[in-house]
Amino acid sequence: MTMVYSVKEIFLSIQGEGAHTGRVSVFVRFSGCNLWSGRERDRAGAVCNFCDTDFVGTDGRGGGQFTTASALAEAALSFWPQSTEGEKWVICTGGEPLLQLDTELISALHRIGFKIAVETNGTLKAPDGLDWICVSPKADAPLQQTCGHELKLVYPQRANRPEDFEHLDFDVFSLQPLDETQTGNTKGDVHMHAALEYCLAHPKWRLSLQTHKVLGVR
Ligand code: SF4
Repeated sequence: MTMVYSVKEIFLSIQGEGAHTGRVSVFVRFSGCNLWSGRERDRAGAVCNFCDTDFVGTDGRGGGQFTTASALAEAALSFWPQSTEGEKWVICTGGEPLLQLDTELISALHRIGFKIAVETNGTLKAPDGLDWICVSPKADAPLQQTCGHELKLVYPQRANRPEDFEHLDFDVFSLQPLDETQTGNTKGDVHMHAALEYCLAHPKWRLSLQTHKVLGVR
C-alpha cells in the first residue's frame, strides 16, 4: 500500500530542547496525533491535554500531502542551507510522527544524507533505522517504545513521575518544565523551579529548557 504522508509544515530551525539543543535541523511536522484531535473543544477530554503545537491539517509553510517518500525527503532537503559543512539533521515531529514515518521514508531521508531524529509520545513502536529516538511519555498513555536515545519527561504531570521511567533503556534523561501558557495558566516559573529542584536532587536527570521559546523562534 502506498503511503500518503500528511505534513503540517516543514521549516529550518534549531532544536530548542533536550540533548540536541542548539542543533540546526529541518523540522518535518506530521499532521495528526493519537492522543488529541488538535481541536480546542476536545482538549479537556483528551489523553494528552497540555499540547502546545498546531498539528491539524496540511496548511502550514512547506506542508502538504506527499504521495511518495522521496518527494517528502526532497522537500525536507530544500530547506537545508547551501553549506556542505556539518551533519544534516531532520527532526520528525508532530503530532505523532510514528503514525506515518515508515521504513520507506527513513530510507529516502538517509539516501539524501539526513540523519533522522524523531520526537514521539512513545505509544507506538519506532521503526528500525532511526538515528535518534526521543520519547516523551504522556500521562495515561501506555508506553510501547521503552528504549531509545533520550527520554524527555514534561514535569510535573499528574500521573507520570520521573522515578517511573529511570529504569528504562535510554542514554539521556531530560526533565522539561511544563509550559501551560497555551491553556491560559501562567505557572511557568513554578514548574521551572520544581524541575530544577528535582534535577539537583536526582542528577540522572538533565534540565531541558525550551530555548526556542526564549529565542522567539519555532
Ligand atoms: S502527544 Fe504530543 S503532539 Fe500529541 S497532543 Fe500530546 S503533546 Fe501534542
